[in-house]
Amino acid sequence: MPAPIHPVATRLLTALAMGSQALTKGRFWGDGVDTLLREIGLATGASRVWIFQLLELQEHAVIQDYVFEWAAAPHYRQLTHKHFRFFSTAFHDPLYRRMVEERQRGMSQHFITARMAHGPLRENLESQHIRSMVTVPIMIDDGWWGTLGIDDCERELEWEGGELEALVVAAELIASAIYRHQLSSRRRQLELFQQVTDCGIWEIDLASGSTWCSRALLLMLGYPDGYARLPLRRLLAHIMPTDRQRLWLQLRECLARSRQSCRLDVRLHSNGVLPRWHELVAELTLDENGRPSGISGLVIDITRRKQGEERARIAAEYDELTGVMNRRGLTRRLHAALDEPQPAACHLLLLDIDHFKQINDGYGHPAGDALLRQLATQLSNELRGQDALARVGGEEFAILVSGLDDAQALQLGERLRASVADTPFPLQRLACDVKIRHIDITVSIGIAALCPDQEPSHAQALATAQADQALYAAKHAGRNRVLLYGQHANVPDPQEATDPASLHFSGPGSG
Ligand code: GH3
Ligand code: MG
Ligand code: MG
Repeated sequence: MPAPIHPVATRLLTALAMGSQALTKGRFWGDGVDTLLREIGLATGASRVWIFQLLELQEHAVIQDYVFEWAAAPHYRQLTHKHFRFFSTAFHDPLYRRMVEERQRGMSQHFITARMAHGPLRENLESQHIRSMVTVPIMIDDGWWGTLGIDDCERELEWEGGELEALVVAAELIASAIYRHQLSSRRRQLELFQQVTDCGIWEIDLASGSTWCSRALLLMLGYPDGYARLPLRRLLAHIMPTDRQRLWLQLRECLARSRQSCRLDVRLHSNGVLPRWHELVAELTLDENGRPSGISGLVIDITRRKQGEERARIAAEYDELTGVMNRRGLTRRLHAALDEPQPAACHLLLLDIDHFKQINDGYGHPAGDALLRQLATQLSNELRGQDALARVGGEEFAILVSGLDDAQALQLGERLRASVADTPFPLQRLACDVKIRHIDITVSIGIAALCPDQEPSHAQALATAQADQALYAAKHAGRNRVLLYGQHANVPDPQEATDPASLHFSGPGSG
């Protein structure tokens, strides 16, 4: 004779099947849990089915929250009771402490209140009119996440056998739903994080050379979503070669200094797209012998930051009034010219407007400003593309030219001087009582050759001082003239006359 199937166990199995469907198909995992609790409650005829979530396990108390409930009738409902919100239960009763320890180990428990030893736990159940109770811990990653419980306020039920097993399965179903929910939350967080930061995530196993790239990174590099395997060599090929070398150097330095993480700005290119700046954040994983076994990190698109930096650099190197370079820009150009492996001969021309103060005084400061702009434009038009023109003082310009000998540099200076002298400059704003539309101006120019053998800063300081001395001499000799340092007897040697440390572009004092 086949053994009869216990009717409660059968109903519980049906309840589990329905709850399981609700948990996997439901839009919100919580809706599925509600369905499962209801089905269990209806199948067992219980007063109440509930879930407590463990919030914190302290030395002398446990803090929990009442998170789900199904109640057979409104008067059994407890979820809304204030004292079940983040409630703390102290371990005064040794029975309760043992109960918590057993739940931590994943053990289920069942009580008939009338048979319990007298103490706080029994009083607690009596105050809730509970006659029998069964609890099954919900375990996630081997840890006690919370408790599934059934209260019966009408019957003294002995929970055991197939019914108890069915409840254990119910707790596992809930655990896997919570687990799935946690995973999808984490995936969502990761996606949000990547969206917000424009970043990709990568990981390299150094032993096997295998790589893993996040979806965002694959798309960033021009691969289809879900691209299965990206060989290390191909992944690295996306880094510009010079940046790759800097990366190796930095990683090596990291290891030498026992640092495990580094950050570096690199240019990454994806197929057919211009390289874009990314910040690479790398973290080394070390094996038990302290040797690197893996490396992982982020790539963050910093194109906008780099563009901002570039704009700031340009702004910092250009003169607002005239649009030509300023002293900082000239210094960079000069250092670049002298840092060449075989630098060409370079000359520095210092050009100062003669009696400019009179123009300001006679026609107003705005007229003086307009004239400075016009002069900058005119000088730019006279120069070659590779020459560098900068405004280095109020009405003083510097020009860096390369590839000329002394005579040619002098010729260039002379051409500039003549061009200015021969050009009547229109005055944009006239003082009301002045009828002149154009004025003639002249400039004085001092020239010095840059010494290619010297360290760039020193070569610049020396040439500046020498050109300034030549300019001083040109002013002294009557203005509207050009002098090359060393070709005029009256030009003193700045190294004798001046402390090199204090050498700098001369101001109006040269006049
Ligand atoms: P010198 O021939 O000896 O060079 O005589 P100078 O008048 O040109 O020289 P000085 O140093 O006496 O005067 C320079 C003048 O340049 C004084 C100052 O008001 C003027 N200046 C300096 N910066 C600016 C500017 O940005 N705009 C205008 N409009 N004038 C400026
Ligand atoms: Mg002047
Ligand atoms: Mg001056």
